[in-house]
Amino acid sequence: MSHLETMRTVLVIYTGGTIGMTRDKVSGALVPLDFAQVAKHVPELAHAGIRVEAVSFDVPMDSSDVSPRHWRSLANTVAECYNRFDGFVILHGTDTMAYSASALSFMLEGLQKPVIFTGSQLPIGIPRTDGRENLLSALMLAAHQTDGASTIQEVAVYFGNHLLRGNRSHKESAQSLQAIVSPNFPALVEAGVDFMIETSTLWRTPPTADGLQLHSGMRQEVAWVSLYPGMPLDLLRQTLEWPDLRGVVLATYGSGNAPTSQVLKDLLQKANQSGVTLLNVTQCGHGGVHPELYATSHMLAGCGVIPGHDMTTEAALTKLMHVLALTDDQGQIRDMMTANLRGELTPQDRSRAEAHGPAGAAGL
Ligand code: ASP
Repeated sequence: MSHLETMRTVLVIYTGGTIGMTRDKVSGALVPLDFAQVAKHVPELAHAGIRVEAVSFDVPMDSSDVSPRHWRSLANTVAECYNRFDGFVILHGTDTMAYSASALSFMLEGLQKPVIFTGSQLPIGIPRTDGRENLLSALMLAAHQTDGASTIQEVAVYFGNHLLRGNRSHKESAQSLQAIVSPNFPALVEAGVDFMIETSTLWRTPPTADGLQLHSGMRQEVAWVSLYPGMPLDLLRQTLEWPDLRGVVLATYGSGNAPTSQVLKDLLQKANQSGVTLLNVTQCGHGGVHPELYATSHMLAGCGVIPGHDMTTEAALTKLMHVLALTDDQGQIRDMMTANLRGELTPQDRSRAEAHGPAGAAGL
């Protein structure tokens, strides 16, 4: 077999983002380049021992403009090219990378190959860019195999020397070169002199699954409401009374707490009874919802609000969009939202609930 035949092949899907931007000479603003120009700044690509092909969005974009329509196009491209490549790297702006990575993790069920998002905080053409290392390491991890199979078999994000599970990722900093973090789950790989692969953290599709399945539906009739002290409840009422509304991610305090307001309770109960799915996630940067701990969150559970455990808001929103596109059945929606579909949540630890006593006992 020739060297070329054994070479791994990776498809780069270029969507835009800072990694492929340059400064416009007239306005001074950062504007997108095409992938051929990006590749020119990374001559090491030719020596990485990987056959790289690339496709681009017609117009490379800032990730603030990425929407479910673009997630669909990315997922379709992966599905269509799945058998021809060993892995996929998606170059994407960092601002909404965690949303796109989370969405693709739900849209692509049964992955047995890597789909790795990466980008950079500094454009590829400037001397201190983080884009070159991010791109090269993402490519190498997309081509990485163990015992003849892809080492990474899920949607992931490579950033700042770490490979993170895509639906656990979150953009934490507008400044740091370690901008993307995984608050509630360890890194899959730490890139030092070697790639330190945390084998026990890698997601594996159950052997019973039947190949790659594409779920391109995403219901967009969802809202994200973050509670704050003094929030006029009329704001929430107006959102909940939107006739098309199918689901709401409620970002609550601490381990999933909300004010003990009868008006709030009535609003949530009414929405729940009219078939709106309500999901509780924490506003905190780390940790999750533990409805057994405080009476304030017990009230939410009583209104039919589903605990989102330790999902990031990005995972919670995109999972809700995905699940609502699959079924209208309230029982199935609850089961899927609380199940660990793609490694996006840590099922609740019963021992913790037991250690804290019965629901409501901990007081306010
Ligand atoms: N605004 C850019 C984007 O998300 C930021 C970046 O890529 O880092 O497209």
